[in-house]
Amino acid sequence: MRARALIFLGAPGAGKGTQAREISMRLGIPHISTGDMLRDAVQKQTPLGLAAKAQMDAGELVTDDVVCGIAAARIQQPDTANGFILDGFPRTLRQAEFVDGLLRQGGRSAPLVLNIEVDPALLFKRLTGRRTCPIGGHIYNLYFSPPKNDEICDLDGGKLFQRADDREEAIEQRLHAYEQLTRPLVDYYRQRALLKAVDGNRPPEAITEEICRILGDA
Ligand code: AMP
Repeated sequence: MRARALIFLGAPGAGKGTQAREISMRLGIPHISTGDMLRDAVQKQTPLGLAAKAQMDAGELVTDDVVCGIAAARIQQPDTANGFILDGFPRTLRQAEFVDGLLRQGGRSAPLVLNIEVDPALLFKRLTGRRTCPIGGHIYNLYFSPPKNDEICDLDGGKLFQRADDREEAIEQRLHAYEQLTRPLVDYYRQRALLKAVDGNRPPEAITEEICRILGDA
């Protein structure tokens, strides 16, 4: 596949992050996750992080201007020359138009968009069951890939934690924000024939294989 921006689209819990990490390694192109960048800013208590924290914890979207600013700064780094993966961005029509403008300005071709589709009941379990190791960042799921010992990381013994926005109230808000603001992007990209559907109701390895097949044909 020639150098091209890949956009991973899908509801919270669809597996965008897991797949983006794997495909980034296989293709040797950067994985750009606005959620990870924002969480990092929150942890370091930068002005950006302090401003975004309340919205993130409540499961609401951070404003377009803020997210577009951090994403643009990252996309303009030289390591994206051979392509890159956007995970969790764009999430609104305004963000999608912003990405189009950025790609045009950079003389790049239109993106390829992978829409990972997952049944709602499964999404809910993936989110409520998600636990992260604070030491190595390894991610478990209490339903599907639990640690051997109760909420302790198998790899380094870290005490696993639940993201504030994976609590049930926040999850409802995140799924609502997805339906209202992000789902319209499916049509936005489909109408321009840039969208490929991926069945996300399967184990991660099977989803990765399907994505690789799609990329091979693209
Ligand atoms: P994620 O890890 O992608 O689920 O993102 C976690 C949280 O970061 C989201 O619930 C939002 O509060 C915020 N966030 C991440 N990406 C975006 C985006 N593209 N637009 C607005 N808010 C975002």
